[in-house]
Amino acid sequence: TVGAVALDAQGHLAAATSTGGYTNKPVGRIGDSPLIGSGTYARDGVCAVSGTGQGEYFIRNVMAYDIAARMIYAGEKLQTASEHLVMGEFRDLGVGAGVIAIDANGQVSAPYNTLGMFRAWVTEDGRGVVASHHQLYDFDL
Ligand code: ASP
Repeated sequence: TVGAVALDAQGHLAAATSTGGYTNKPVGRIGDSPLIGSGTYARDGVCAVSGTGQGEYFIRNVMAYDIAARMIYAGEKLQTASEHLVMGEFRDLGVGAGVIAIDANGQVSAPYNTLGMFRAWVTEDGRGVVASHHQLYDFDL
């Protein structure tokens, strides 16, 4: 899966997710990535989310929308909301999962419960960060 989340200069939030699914997936399977609210979700003023992992669990839990709903209705911060399923129920069930997310203030959260998840983002001072596993690498744009 390749995902992207963005907050633009006008304050709009967007999310996109692309995937090949998984090896030997059933014919006709539709995963979580194209299902808005499951593997992908964005809502202005709240957050943008893209997920990777066992999509059936993302669909069952309406994972990406769940993060937004926790922020809207329970007042959770992005980090708490984004870690809820990934680092809680999914991890306890042995469901490999990760998400990348950004909120309306530009805060970034990218929890994952697997050994690693490649991710990159741009910091407020305009620098780039690439991360693999627990290692962070700074770069100039
Ligand atoms: N979430 C994708 C799916 O279940 C798989 C992936 O993340 O690579 O289709």
